[in-house]
Amino acid sequence: VIELGQPEHSVLTTCAYCGVGCGFKAEMKGNQVVRMVPWKDGKANEGHSCIKGRFAWGYATHQDRITKPMIRKSITEPWREVSWEEAIGYAASEFRRIQARHGRESIGGITSSRCTNEETYLVQKLVRAAFGNNNVDTCARVCHSPTGYGLGQTFGTSAGTQTFKSVEKSDVILVIGANPAAAHPVFASRMKKRLRQGAKLIVIDPRQIDLVKSPHIQAAFHLQLRPGTNVALVSALAHVVVTEGLLAQDYIAERCDEKSFLQWQEFVARPENSPEAMEAITGVPADLVRGAARLYATGGNAAIYYGLGVTEHAQGSTMVMGIANLAMATGNVGREGVGVNPLRGQNNVQGSCDMGSFPHELPGYRHISDSTVRGTFEAAWGVALDAEPGLRIPNMFHAALAGSFKGLYCEGEDIVQSDPDTQHVAAALSAMECIVVQDIFLNETAKYAHVFLPGSSFLEKDGTFTNAERRISMVRKVMKPLGGYADWEVTQLLSNALGYPMEYTHPREIMAEIAALTPTFAGVTYEKIAQHGSVQWPCNEETGELGTPIMHVGQFVRGKGRFLITRYVASDEKVTLKYPLLLTTGRILSQYNVGAQTRRTPNSQWHSEDRLEIHPHDAEDRGIQDGDWVGISSRAGETVLRALVTERIQPGVVYTTFHFPESGANVITTDSSDWATNCPEYKVTAVQVLPVAQP
Ligand code: SF4
Repeated sequence: VIELGQPEHSVLTTCAYCGVGCGFKAEMKGNQVVRMVPWKDGKANEGHSCIKGRFAWGYATHQDRITKPMIRKSITEPWREVSWEEAIGYAASEFRRIQARHGRESIGGITSSRCTNEETYLVQKLVRAAFGNNNVDTCARVCHSPTGYGLGQTFGTSAGTQTFKSVEKSDVILVIGANPAAAHPVFASRMKKRLRQGAKLIVIDPRQIDLVKSPHIQAAFHLQLRPGTNVALVSALAHVVVTEGLLAQDYIAERCDEKSFLQWQEFVARPENSPEAMEAITGVPADLVRGAARLYATGGNAAIYYGLGVTEHAQGSTMVMGIANLAMATGNVGREGVGVNPLRGQNNVQGSCDMGSFPHELPGYRHISDSTVRGTFEAAWGVALDAEPGLRIPNMFHAALAGSFKGLYCEGEDIVQSDPDTQHVAAALSAMECIVVQDIFLNETAKYAHVFLPGSSFLEKDGTFTNAERRISMVRKVMKPLGGYADWEVTQLLSNALGYPMEYTHPREIMAEIAALTPTFAGVTYEKIAQHGSVQWPCNEETGELGTPIMHVGQFVRGKGRFLITRYVASDEKVTLKYPLLLTTGRILSQYNVGAQTRRTPNSQWHSEDRLEIHPHDAEDRGIQDGDWVGISSRAGETVLRALVTERIQPGVVYTTFHFPESGANVITTDSSDWATNCPEYKVTAVQVLPVAQP
C-alpha cells in the first residue's frame, strides 16, 4: 500500500484499468498522489473499488518511466536521447520518405484502448488526414471487435444494451466466457449481491470460475464446455427454446424481422442442433443444456454478460450473433434487468471503437465507404478521405512481411506482447523501416522501434473514457506529464510536422469536434459530464439530458431486430496426437493484461507468476506434480511455466494467465482468428504439456 501523507486536496477522475470505469478521487499533496479513494457518487462503482484501482497506480511515477524522446537509425544501435523537436521531426521525415518511396498506403497507426477518447480520435484523424489512408486500428481488434460486428449486425449498434444498475432487476444471469470476479470485480460484486438476493445463475465456461461456487452463491447450471464449441452450445440452447415452445412470440412479431426469424427458427430446430446431438461436440450433458435453456427463457428477466471467452475465437462474431438471437427469441432486450452485455476488458475499449479507430469506420460506426458521412468529415477536416477500408493490425503484419507496409505509429499498445504468435509479429516489425512507439515504458514493441516518444499515464492528462455501459466519464490531470506532453499533444505535434495542422489547446475542443461530427455524441460536452459525473451515449436531442441507460427500448436501433444463422464450424485448433490438449487463457484479479502497470506496483506480491492449470488426470498421465516446471508446445512455439494441478479445469484442457512477458503465453498462441474481424483465437490452442527441468 502506498500511503504518502495527509492529502491537501482531491481531484475526481476515472480508473484506467478495466471497462467498469470506476470513479475515484485522487487525493493529492501538492503534485503527489497520496491515495486513490473510490468515489461514492460514481455511477459505475457507487463508492466501491478493487485492488487495482485502489492501490495499483504507483506505476505512474515508477523509475522505469521514459521521459525523454529517443531515436536510433537501426534497432541494433543504442537509443539516443534527443529533443522533442528532433524526435518528432525525424519521425515525420521518415514517414514521408517511406510514403514517397513505397506509396501512401505503406504506413499506418495503431491506437490503444488505454488512451482517452480524444487521443484515439486524434490518432485516426492523423492517419486519415495526415497519412492519407485508412490504415488505422485499435487493440480492440484483439478483444472485442466481434462484439462490434455481431451486435451491429443483429441489433444495429455496436455496444452493450444495459446500464450496470440494470442487474439489480435481473432474475436470471447468464455469464458466458467471462470471469467478472477477476476481470471486472466491482461489477461482479453488484452481480453477486443480486445473486444472493435470489437471482439464478447460469455459467458457460470451460473452467470453474469463482462465480460458479462462492459464499452463498451456487450456479444453477455450469455448462463446462470444451474450448471452441461456444456456437454449438448456443445453437443447442436455441434449439430447446424453439422446440419446447419457449419463444417470446409477441415480442418477436412486434420487434423482429420476420423473414430472418423464420429462417433462424427452421435452422435451430433441426435435429443436428439438439442438445443431444451437440453433446458430442461441446461435452456438455444434454439435460444440463435443456435445464439452462428453460431457466433462461422462462425465469423472468434474463440478462447475458459475456467476455473474451466469447469473442476471442475463430467464430467470435458468430457467437455474439448467437447470443443476440437467444436474447431476442426470449424477449430479453429493451428493458431493465435483461439485455446483452459485453464486459469490456480495458478501460476504454468501448471508446476506442466509438472513435473510429477501425480501418473501415469513421467515428460513430459509420462505414468509410458512405460518401455522405465521408463528406461531413472531409468538410470539417479539409482533406479528401480514402473511401477504401485500410489494413487491420494482422493485415499490417502480413503486408510488412510482403514488403508493402514499412512504417508504423503505435500509441499506447504493446503489440509484441499482446498480439498472438509473437514470432510472426516480431518478424513483421523487423521488416519495417520506421516504427514510432509512444508509451510510458520501453515496452517489448519498443525493441523494434526507431523512435520512442514518451507517453503519459491517466494521471497526467485530461480527457474522457467510455466504460462497458457506454458511460462517458472524465479523466483529469492531477500532475504534469513527466515527458512534457500529454499523448494527444504528441499526436498533434506529429501531425503538424507532417504538414496537417492541428491546433487544439485542450481535449475539450477535441470532444466538441467529435460531438459536432458524431450524432450519437451530439449532446456530449465536458460541462455536462462535469456537472453530472457522466453521460451515456447515445446522447443527443432525441435522448434524455444524460443520454441512454437502456438501449433498444421499444424498437431496435436498426429498426427490426435481425436473427442470423449461426452454424457451428470446428476450430482449426484441434487436438492431435502431437498436441493432445487445448489451452485456454484468462486473467487474475490483482494483475492486469500484460502487467505493464500492475507489475510495477505492490500488486505483484499477490500474484508474481503465470501458472499452467492442469487437471489431476492429465498431470498424473504425464508425471507432473503441482509446482513442477512444464514445457508447453503448440504449432506456433513453446514456453515453460510451473504447473498448478487443479480440478477447476476439466480433463483435456489447460489454462494460463498472460500477465508476465517471461511466461510467453503468446509465443504459443497461433494466428487463427475470427472470420469476420480477425480477432485472434486466444482461447483455443492445441498444445502438448510435458515435464521439463527448471529453466
Ligand atoms: Fe478499476 Fe475495474 Fe477495479 Fe473498477 S473494477 S477499480 S475500473 S480495475
